[in-house]
Amino acid sequence: MRGSVSDESQPNKHFVTNTVTGRVIQAKNLYRKYGNIAAVDGITFHVESGETYGLLGPNGAGKTTTMRMLSGLTPVDSGTLTVAGIDVVRDSRRVRETMGVVTQHDGLDTGLTVFQNLFLYGFLSGLSKAGAQKRTHEVLEFFNLRDRSRANVYDLSGGMKRRLAIARSMMCSPTVIVLDEPSTGLDPQSRNRVWEELAILKESGVTVLLSTHYMEEAATLCDRLSIMDQGKILDEGTPDQMIRRHAPKEVAQLRVAPASLRFVRDYLDKRKITFREVGALVSVTGAEGDRPDLSDLDHVDGVRTSYRLGNLEDVFLTLTGRELRDG
Ligand code: ADP
Repeated sequence: MRGSVSDESQPNKHFVTNTVTGRVIQAKNLYRKYGNIAAVDGITFHVESGETYGLLGPNGAGKTTTMRMLSGLTPVDSGTLTVAGIDVVRDSRRVRETMGVVTQHDGLDTGLTVFQNLFLYGFLSGLSKAGAQKRTHEVLEFFNLRDRSRANVYDLSGGMKRRLAIARSMMCSPTVIVLDEPSTGLDPQSRNRVWEELAILKESGVTVLLSTHYMEEAATLCDRLSIMDQGKILDEGTPDQMIRRHAPKEVAQLRVAPASLRFVRDYLDKRKITFREVGALVSVTGAEGDRPDLSDLDHVDGVRTSYRLGNLEDVFLTLTGRELRDG
């Protein structure tokens, strides 16, 4: 695997030059209003050096606004925001020099090749011609894009484009990269590839802040995360801490044929067992968050029961009363 110590070629040994220790990003009481809506409503969080930190929340939670304030694209109404000790409000230009940004709209030049996109970005960001060329080769190597370097961006798949956008964000050796919904709109296989790249980047020591509405993405990639909703951070911790704090240990999932739905609802209602329905799936949680006893339903036609562990979806549901997916 790229990035492992045993890899003889060690292409990424010096790929990330991370000189910042401690808190790389620090947001305190950050606030941004649009008309009457507090898009970001007084949030406080920090990201440690080398950490991957996630903002997990549905559409409209305020994630993009937070990312845009970090990049200096949206003004901060009040609160403080620093990146590598630099005040974003006072010196957003210098902040941008320490930060790689991957937005939802990749912003790649579709008329150019992969190599040209990387090179030009580096050159326009202030690298010398020779420096941009050297870094382009390093980036192509690190992201396993060498064999695509002459491909036209226009011909790349969505997943490849996203990987290229992530690669491009590393052109100027940033201290931190900020990714807004890195795998939104990708098929599951491309999503896995993007996750793999981000995991390898993390191994190499770069600090990552990402926003997502996929609980699996947050659970897979993040060391710590915030659950965000309606501009507020509802709680923060490692994925395991959040699940222990807010999710049931186990959830029963009943796949119920339409003809049996009424029977199952009545059965659960009579026993005062709480449940929720998502499509054809009925989720049931035991009173103490333990495995609920549904053995009576084992032999009912049209009902198949399986059990899963509590997850971040359950955490969001506990904290907001709503499904993460529904927003
Ligand atoms: P998320 O990225 O979590 O989906 P956003 O930060 O995009 O959330 O949006 C947060 C809230 O701010 C939403 O209610 C959204 O409609 C509103 N909002 C975001 N950008 C603008 C804008 N440019 N003008 C007006 N309202 C906005």
